[in-house]
Amino acid sequence: MAGIYYHIPFCKRICSYCDFYRTAQIGRLPQLIEAMCREIEQRHDYLRGEPIRTRYFGGGTPSLCTIEQLKSLLDTTARHFDCTGLEESTLEANPDDLNPQYLNDLRTIGIDRLSIGIQSFDDGCLRLMNRRHTAAQAIRAVKDAQAAGFDNLTIDLIFGVPGYGGAAWERSIDQALELGVQHISAYLLTIEPRTRFGVMAAKGELTEVADTVCEEEFMRLHERLSEARFDHYEISNYALPGYRARHNGNYWQGIPYLGIGPAAHSFDGDSRQWNVASVEGYIKGQSPEQEKLTTRNRIDEYIMTRLRTVEGLSLPDFEARFGSGERKRLEADARQEMAAERLIQTDERLSIPIEHLLVSDSIISSLFAD
Ligand code: SF4
Repeated sequence: MAGIYYHIPFCKRICSYCDFYRTAQIGRLPQLIEAMCREIEQRHDYLRGEPIRTRYFGGGTPSLCTIEQLKSLLDTTARHFDCTGLEESTLEANPDDLNPQYLNDLRTIGIDRLSIGIQSFDDGCLRLMNRRHTAAQAIRAVKDAQAAGFDNLTIDLIFGVPGYGGAAWERSIDQALELGVQHISAYLLTIEPRTRFGVMAAKGELTEVADTVCEEEFMRLHERLSEARFDHYEISNYALPGYRARHNGNYWQGIPYLGIGPAAHSFDGDSRQWNVASVEGYIKGQSPEQEKLTTRNRIDEYIMTRLRTVEGLSLPDFEARFGSGERKRLEADARQEMAAERLIQTDERLSIPIEHLLVSDSIISSLFAD
């Protein structure tokens, strides 16, 4: 089993908080698609014959692609890889790119799951974040997708936005639930120096929301979604029963995946590769970089991915992979975190309690191999 990821790094407008690799040079999209098709052909043996179970178009903004462009990527993939066991094909979309015709056509080419980047249902908050859609467009996009037959929809929300907690956050949660989507990803806003928000913060025009307030917003979300039968299965992800994201699950479970496009990452079970983070360089055919994973890398990655999930880390599975010495080392490090009640052990499983998930990075890194 394996997954394939297609990275479309173009955006019409740059969001105030965005620190991803993306560019506004949309005119290069046709050349990029050709280069991506070439990459699929060239890397036809990367997955060593494993059948592709999940396909994922991420970005950037994949919904800027025409249906023909998306289809050419999917058709090229089907010619070079075993796609007979597909379980999920997701496309990230901006609400203002979606119309009934485009949605129908997406279904026709095999996209069965949409990830709609909404972030907030408050127009003031959307303007602050420099999003290019309104709340009304976001609601319309979800309803149009449902009318087109999409029954596996996920939306993104952001909390911890200065000035838009409290009632504004509550309204976004209400609206998300009212729309009847199957999956919600909720991210805490982090203000990175190189972003517009970072510049505003440096000038004193924006003040980061206090950690305690962010925690309250997160706990409010958690309560509301839990009441609505959403299962909190990973730090940022909630799903109705049967609707967990399968493609993202590949990353958390160490399943191989091939990443196509500028800045896309790949993992073949032994090593990681990443493509150049430049549309120009990528189209010219610049080679990817590669890193062979050491045992220590694997241990750290295992700890990080498992502790991000609500199921947590199974100690017997950890021991089976890395040996009893490493298990003893992990248990010794875990004792300190357990004493501080930042980690719990139930039977033979370690997990981070919900109220500490927002600071999970520091807990997880304290358990890394020496
Ligand atoms: S649409 Fe996504 S990738 Fe593009 S600028 Fe906004 S957050 Fe970044």
